[in-house]
Amino acid sequence: MDNGCINVTKPSMPLFEEYVDEIKSIFESHYLTNQGPKHVQLQSQLEKYLDVQHIQLFANGHLALETAINALSLSGEIITTPFTFASTTLSILNNGIKPVFCDVEPDFYTIDPDKIEQLITERTTAIMPVHVYGNVCDVKRIEEIAKKYSLPVIYDAAHAFGITAYGKSIGAWGDISMFSFHATKVYNTIEGGALSFSDDSLVAKIAALKQFGQVGEDVPYLGTNAKMNEFSAAMGICNLRHTTDNIEKRKQAVMRYRERLSGINGIKLCSEQEGVKPNYSYFPVVFSKAEFGKNRDEVANLLESNNIFARKYFYPLTSDFKCVTDLYGKSETPIAREIADNVLTLPLYSDLELGDVDRICDIILK
Ligand SMILES: *Cc1c(COP(=O)(O)O)cnc(C)c1O
Repeated sequence: MDNGCINVTKPSMPLFEEYVDEIKSIFESHYLTNQGPKHVQLQSQLEKYLDVQHIQLFANGHLALETAINALSLSGEIITTPFTFASTTLSILNNGIKPVFCDVEPDFYTIDPDKIEQLITERTTAIMPVHVYGNVCDVKRIEEIAKKYSLPVIYDAAHAFGITAYGKSIGAWGDISMFSFHATKVYNTIEGGALSFSDDSLVAKIAALKQFGQVGEDVPYLGTNAKMNEFSAAMGICNLRHTTDNIEKRKQAVMRYRERLSGINGIKLCSEQEGVKPNYSYFPVVFSKAEFGKNRDEVANLLESNNIFARKYFYPLTSDFKCVTDLYGKSETPIAREIADNVLTLPLYSDLELGDVDRICDIILK
């Protein structure tokens, strides 16, 4: 991050001494993985922090998502969004299921509840929406639709750590939610992830699935190996001590961005959502060349020439990936396409200086 270079994100880390202190006991016990003491401790701390019934930790968010689908024995088709990271769509494909792409709504870029029902067929077995950028999906409408058709909902909540919506933890909506603890996320365990859910009967199954599907000596389930190791859990224990502060610091950066970029012709920002306590995980900006004078790629290049690396999250749509079109052809989701073609995610992390936010805004507005 020296010589004025600013990346889209910078992973949060505890002080070196804090981490060393946390891993001392691992060196004493040689307990490196398989539900060790750090794992057990982090799991229960996260249940409290996230205010959810059950947490199961994973080696990463992607394997957690694949496991959620497996745990609910889904098949056929899952209705989902193409405006997301590759992982959402791949978790469906890798379970041998067809992703059916629903368009997003234009303000928060989350799945459009008005367009879900028309995609439901007799092969539909679930809905997998994404709280993209930490924007909360229309969880109430989705719950109504899910109830009406008796479909489970698995939320990709990779971006939604620590968010509450309408008085409930984000992880308490739907049947299962997946959190990613990847280095680049609001809260990290280096690599890691979790599933949250309230159904007691899923605890043993999900715990088995991340451990080869093993129960005792038998393997009743087609599981995988997706256990979180003790060093990651120790990182998670340290980072959790600072997450609330980090989110507050991100908020300051977001406030400054909003102050500088609101009300500019051709620049569209996401507004705050009513009833939601956000986590300020991303700052997406949609540029309209007709009104702003520059398109997304031109703004990205301009920033890059100043050593500032914004990212085209999420471009292209996952429905345009070759692995999808080879199997299922093209999907038409015009609003998602419009957003993907024009969105740029500006740098945002907890120790991003407000002076740097100003510098980024100055370059964009110049
Ligand atoms: C990061 C991410 C994932 C996958 O999480 P990993 O921990 O990197 O495996 C899934 N979905 C979305 C939307 C993500 O951004």
